[in-house]
Amino acid sequence: MTNPQTLLRPALRSLKAYESKSLPNCVRMEANENPFPWPEGMRNELFQGDFQLNRYPDGQASLLKKALAQYTGMEQSGILTGNGSDELIQLILSSFGGEGKKVILHPPTFSMYQVASKVTGTGFVEVPLLQGVTLDVEGILRAAQRPEASVIILCNPNNPTGSLFPREDLIRVVRESGKIVALDEAYGEFAGESLADQITNYPNLLVMKTFSKAFALAGLRLGYLLGQPETIELLNRARSPFNVNAFTQRAGVLALKYVEDFRQQTRIIQREIENLYLGIKEISGVTVWSTRANFVLFQPAQPNQVYEALIQKGFLVRNMGNLPMIGDALRASVSLPEDNERFLTVLREIVS
Ligand SMILES: *Cc1c(COP(=O)(O)O)cnc(C)c1O
Repeated sequence: MTNPQTLLRPALRSLKAYESKSLPNCVRMEANENPFPWPEGMRNELFQGDFQLNRYPDGQASLLKKALAQYTGMEQSGILTGNGSDELIQLILSSFGGEGKKVILHPPTFSMYQVASKVTGTGFVEVPLLQGVTLDVEGILRAAQRPEASVIILCNPNNPTGSLFPREDLIRVVRESGKIVALDEAYGEFAGESLADQITNYPNLLVMKTFSKAFALAGLRLGYLLGQPETIELLNRARSPFNVNAFTQRAGVLALKYVEDFRQQTRIIQREIENLYLGIKEISGVTVWSTRANFVLFQPAQPNQVYEALIQKGFLVRNMGNLPMIGDALRASVSLPEDNERFLTVLREIVS
């Protein structure tokens, strides 16, 4: 009998399929989504009209790119849309990484970068954040000198620490590394920061964005890359032709039409995360990391017990496990204001 396992690519042998946790009775604070309902009218508008789904989607996503060009101020030829950032990370590594190449990562950071590196056969070099939060620019530049290093992924604000790296540090890595720098700005809207205005200066800079967080479209899977048109053209070669489905393209255009409503939600989220951070900070025995995203990393004395106790009390946070430089920690995303208040009360009770 053939055992398919023996035929699996060695890089995938140590990999486990990603499983997201679903507990229907809990307040969901584990996936950094936008907790607010869609703006009034958006849902109706999405389902109305005579759009046809029997045809293939527009492979160029022209209407969506037109709307994105307006929103970002970039040219359409400098935009590439994808089926969530997940696909974009893989596309970057399958285009610029692969066998014999390495991607530089800064743990603790988003776990999907490592998954994508294994899936694409790209090796990885880890340059840990100093004290778990500060970008080690010198270390990254040193690692970038290796000839096999071809891509650097920086996450700003960083998931799961919430830390925002200084703009000058990011620009230095882009300017001095000589490698593709993919800057993941999934939480950029919450920090009010972006390096997209530097794209005209650097052909090696790719800025990655998503509709999953501030734009509340996580269920529809939509992300995009900004870069110089020549660099984006290189990535388009390996992109699957109809990677963003027609319905999602439609939803993306619509979300940008409602951008002012989402900006208003973002402002409330910014206020709420600050309250959540300050509330946790006041609880003795809990360490908390200051954040510019819509989530906060915290560390009670017994993270695993606190995680389970929170579930018992109806709150699902993310158990990050043992993070490099930090240790066992939990991450909670902002929920609706009344949930955040209750969460703080419950957390206080649990750890006291
Ligand atoms: C949530 C998140 C994304 C978005 O992923 P999608 O596939 O677009 O939903 C990207 N990067 C980071 C670091 C994230 O936390």
